[in-house]
Amino acid sequence: MSIDWLPGQLDSDLSDSEFATLAVRAGQRRGPEGEHGEAIFTTSSYVFRDAAHAAACFAGDEPGNVYSRYTNPTVRTFEERLAALEAGEKAVATASGMSAIMATVMSFCSAGDHVLVSRSIFGATVSLFDKYLARFGIETTYVDIDNPQAWRDARQPNTRMLYLESPSNPLAELADIAALAEVARETGALLVVDNCFCTPALQQPLKLGADIVIHSATKYIDGQGRCLGGAVVGSKELMTEVVGFLRTAGPSMSPFNAWVFLKGLETLRLRMRAHCDSSMQLARWLEQQPQVEKVYYAGLTTHPQHELACRQQPGGFGAVVSFDIKGGKEAAWRFIDATRMISITANLGDAKTTITHPASTTHGRLKPEERAAMGIGDGLLRIAVGLEELDDLRTDLQRGLDAV
Ligand SMILES: *Cc1c(COP(=O)(O)O)cnc(C)c1O
Repeated sequence: MSIDWLPGQLDSDLSDSEFATLAVRAGQRRGPEGEHGEAIFTTSSYVFRDAAHAAACFAGDEPGNVYSRYTNPTVRTFEERLAALEAGEKAVATASGMSAIMATVMSFCSAGDHVLVSRSIFGATVSLFDKYLARFGIETTYVDIDNPQAWRDARQPNTRMLYLESPSNPLAELADIAALAEVARETGALLVVDNCFCTPALQQPLKLGADIVIHSATKYIDGQGRCLGGAVVGSKELMTEVVGFLRTAGPSMSPFNAWVFLKGLETLRLRMRAHCDSSMQLARWLEQQPQVEKVYYAGLTTHPQHELACRQQPGGFGAVVSFDIKGGKEAAWRFIDATRMISITANLGDAKTTITHPASTTHGRLKPEERAAMGIGDGLLRIAVGLEELDDLRTDLQRGLDAV
């Protein structure tokens, strides 16, 4: 019996390939069984040819697997495919989106460092910075996402990182990533972009000058609500630090989840196009409704940063559409309770459309005046548009409008 000890031959040379091809082919290796679909390697450890081979793999002198907290063939296929799509040199997979964020900050920040963070980021990210990283001497300042001068003015001599999500959730405000990359460069800091809402199908922050891209693969990369996972993407040099932290701290991705995500990447662009098309149509339709005060979606020409959105997100405007209902919280709750198909949950990035009332769920712990300062009104509703038939979504939302 012969065993292929090396990581295997890449399927083909994809160096000049386009997105759709990379999404299907990048990272795949030809295994000794000739399998066409990617294999799931459920193994914690690996065996060696002989003592010298073991020593060489442990020392990193030979490219072999040692232990699945460090590397796993299925996880590596996902990493190589995602890196290709983000136009990054290397991706590192993690157990969740939050562990990708934690690994990134822990890899590059130390006690006494300062981080600039866009104001309306994911709630758990705020907790990570304010409740935990603060205890280890990492200081955070929150900045308005859409004003590069505000970022410039908030810098300190110890600013080590600029961290943002664009478009913001739930109000779809954009960061000018290229402009902030310039601010980061002037500062000698890293620009980190959580690209979870867009995915590389819509926006490629590394091409705009960002240093690091973060993903919660749990959302659109899976796209069907099955698995938790995350990733960090960037240069080989930066990712060496992240790998070092992860293999020590431990939140690595399971091979099964990696397999779900790498299959998700194959259909990512097709799914994102469908998500974006329905979102655009629903945003335009909602704008026409008398019960709706305002719609927040960067695809609308009425959006103040529409031009930037067209430039920065050539693949589409995303699938999160928020809108203010006239009549405040009571009307918003009546709207939600009148829908019959759309799922009442704060999750997003699923084939199933979801609806949530941010003021009483995702932003419920904030004081009313804090919410008001962020522009999150009592009548605000957020939908994350899935893949159902557009007509059925419109019918369900009409039930909500009628109840208002
Ligand atoms: C969900 C989410 C995360 C956290 O990801 P998990 O996979 O749930 O840990 C981080 N950032 C954004 C923007 C998210 O939506």
